Amino acid sequence: MTTIQNFIGGQWVPPSTGEYGQSVNPAHDMEVVARYPLSAKSDVDRAVQAAVDAFPGWRAMPAPRRAEILFRAAEILCRRKDELGQLVTREMGKVLSEGLGDVQEAIDMAYFMAGEGRRLQGETVPCELPNKDAKSFRVPWGVFALITPWNFPIAIPSWKIFASLICGNTVVFKPSSDSPLCATRLVEVLEEAGMPPGVVNMITGAGETVGETLAMHPDVQGVSFTGSCSVGEALACSVAQLHRPIAMEMGGKNAILIMDDADLDLALEGVLWGAFGTTGQRCTAASRIIVHEKVYDEFLDRLVRAANAMRLGDGLEKDTDVGPLINRRALNKVLNYIRIGKDEGARLCCGGNQAKHNGLTEGYFVEPTVFSNVTPSMRIAQEEIFGPVVCLIKCDSYEQGIAIVNQSRFGLSTAIYTRDVNISARAEGDLDSGLVYINASTIGAEIQLPFGGFKHSGSGHPEAGGRMGALDFFSRIKVVYRDF
Ligand code: NAD
Repeated sequence: MTTIQNFIGGQWVPPSTGEYGQSVNPAHDMEVVARYPLSAKSDVDRAVQAAVDAFPGWRAMPAPRRAEILFRAAEILCRRKDELGQLVTREMGKVLSEGLGDVQEAIDMAYFMAGEGRRLQGETVPCELPNKDAKSFRVPWGVFALITPWNFPIAIPSWKIFASLICGNTVVFKPSSDSPLCATRLVEVLEEAGMPPGVVNMITGAGETVGETLAMHPDVQGVSFTGSCSVGEALACSVAQLHRPIAMEMGGKNAILIMDDADLDLALEGVLWGAFGTTGQRCTAASRIIVHEKVYDEFLDRLVRAANAMRLGDGLEKDTDVGPLINRRALNKVLNYIRIGKDEGARLCCGGNQAKHNGLTEGYFVEPTVFSNVTPSMRIAQEEIFGPVVCLIKCDSYEQGIAIVNQSRFGLSTAIYTRDVNISARAEGDLDSGLVYINASTIGAEIQLPFGGFKHSGSGHPEAGGRMGALDFFSRIKVVYRDF
């Protein structure tokens, strides 16, 4: 077990409360992974002040120099990839290949944003009048509050931190209390890469106290939040009164539409990966599968056989397909939704139970669960379960399938499987979500493009990934006119 500290002004410091919480290994819940500070408002104030103090120097540093630090961070992440990937698995439970993938996303983002350090262009335009020039360029906002979840404990913080930094902002980062050691290791990488003191600060503790105080702090200029819809929307209401930008990346109820001409092998692979990868704990997890009636029975049969064959376990073990849920609260929530599904009249085709890893009474495991006979308005088809539970819904046409997919308050990610190029082209427009996949599952985004959701899945403008996403959110445009 490691005891971690807050990182303020380039120093690792204990919280003013002297109190610590614990993160545990969700596959072995008796194993404490780290003790983390339960910080108070005064700790938030100190962290924000450090970021305020560091801002003028960081903003003045030429962007290509800032980029050099991110390049070094990328190289350190590459060197430490195995160790960090294992830590991801140990602290939040995803299988090792995905833990390594989490770190790889941070590496990709570090290289991408470092490259952007030489491309932070604005525009020059021809003026209507003689002896005049006009140009626009990007300027930073100041101090950003970055609040992150546990399910991508290295990747998501890195998306926010690297984009903020390359644009010239300083940051105070508040990670999830379920993954504080992963967050600490990421900050250590930036420290080793040569980040000047105060540019990156990290503070841990309860969301309702530390997170909210940070987002509402008078010296914070912008907020980037990734997490649940309930927390994000409440936070956005409060932050809106302060007239500062907030990006919210929130939940999903992502759907895959399988047409009667689909390659069912490919579709099955996509559904298994989308529904049970990261134990269904991805914002983009596929949780509604809308299947054309002509292939519904065959697909259901194949899905149930494949789900039953999946091996649950500690993600560090080689044979594991599906790891644990993050904590007891998540376990209870998922089991409750399984009860709700049965009560609503859906047919439980496989799974549905808490499972014990290797027969031990530890860990937060739920069997991969498939419901059929689901109707679009059932709660299990509308609410984010965030676990290994997938609902099959029948449709009789492309039009009806699209209508069911879009009958959701969420709009993060959707997918269609079809061999018909015309149908796939229509679906690009018809699927009402920020991310659309054709003949691929709902997960697996590229960091070079914006990542974000429509409707209640996001704030409308993605802040993760890409130039149009991240750079447009983390910088402001200034326009200058000059007469001569
Ligand atoms: P969560 O909303 O419980 O917590 C997210 C972060 O917010 C944590 O750091 C938490 O401490 C903090 N927080 C909690 N209450 C707060 C408050 N009142 N004010 C400020 N901060 C507060 O979410 P979670 O359980 O960590 O993550 C799972 C959720 O995140 C799921 O809904 C998932 O869909 C979503 N998610 C979305 C994306 C995306 O990009 N759209 C990516 C990953 C996860």
